[in-house]
Amino acid sequence: MPRLIPFLVLLTLLLSACGSQPAASTEGGKLKVVATTGQLGDAVRNIAGETVELTTLLGPGIDPHTYVATEGDLRTFQEADLIFYNGLHLEAQMERVLEQIGQSGRTTVVAVGDTLDPLTLLNWEPSAGFPYDPHVWNDVRLWKQVVEVIRDALIQADPTNSATYSRNTTAYLAELDTLDTYIREQAARIPVERRVIITAHDAFSYFARAYGFEVEAVQGISTQTEASTADIQALAAIVLERQVPAIFVESTISPRTIEAVQAAVRAAGQEVRVGGELYSDALGAPDSPAGTYVGMMRSNIDTLVAALAG
Ligand SMILES: [Zn+2]
Repeated sequence: MPRLIPFLVLLTLLLSACGSQPAASTEGGKLKVVATTGQLGDAVRNIAGETVELTTLLGPGIDPHTYVATEGDLRTFQEADLIFYNGLHLEAQMERVLEQIGQSGRTTVVAVGDTLDPLTLLNWEPSAGFPYDPHVWNDVRLWKQVVEVIRDALIQADPTNSATYSRNTTAYLAELDTLDTYIREQAARIPVERRVIITAHDAFSYFARAYGFEVEAVQGISTQTEASTADIQALAAIVLERQVPAIFVESTISPRTIEAVQAAVRAAGQEVRVGGELYSDALGAPDSPAGTYVGMMRSNIDTLVAALAG
């Protein structure tokens, strides 16, 4: 948190320096849109195509829980007309900066998680002031609501292109319906007692609720705290008790903790495979199959089926 303070000072300078300038959209150029996560950026790209100038902040393998905005990021925020971030404390180190930019009034800032019905959200750490699990993209039906929120914000910011945004959104929502059906069909191939996802951090609770899995994670929902030896032993005990055939590493987390679980199981005289890599909080490389939201979700269910269907 102390690292944030210089950025807040810089932000204040930027805000005051740019006080009299109009937003970029009023200069006749493309709407400047910033998305924090790859999932959000991909949704914007599907809805807006090349109509907007899009910057996606968090690339492949970047952990949104711990990412701190650079000075360059702050300038990108400052120059944006519209910023989408996940919210629900996912971007823990950028939240205050984003709220402050939203309050400045020149840039529209949308925390998509805050727009969802709280009754559809899963609990997180209410005692710490963060009541809801932020990993909402892992339930495709919930993510469809986010896509509609993005469409509406784009239309409000740039009504001239509303027909394009509406048409593209309709097509993308149909693609997401196909994805949702695919995940359900694939999940059904795994015997019910084997539908257990064991990972390093707890990113898959929405996925589990939507598609009939159980989830056990070494760390809690955020990666901001280190896993303890007791956490690792507890998870190894679950693997042994339930005869779980595979556990999973994640694209945004060091494989160290999940390898420690594997070692603990081995120390007890049994074996558990590492069943592959799941994309938890970031998309894959842009030119890879998991470089889109749809591709990421397909990759995850395919990895789970390959490791658990047996
Ligand atoms: Zn996460």
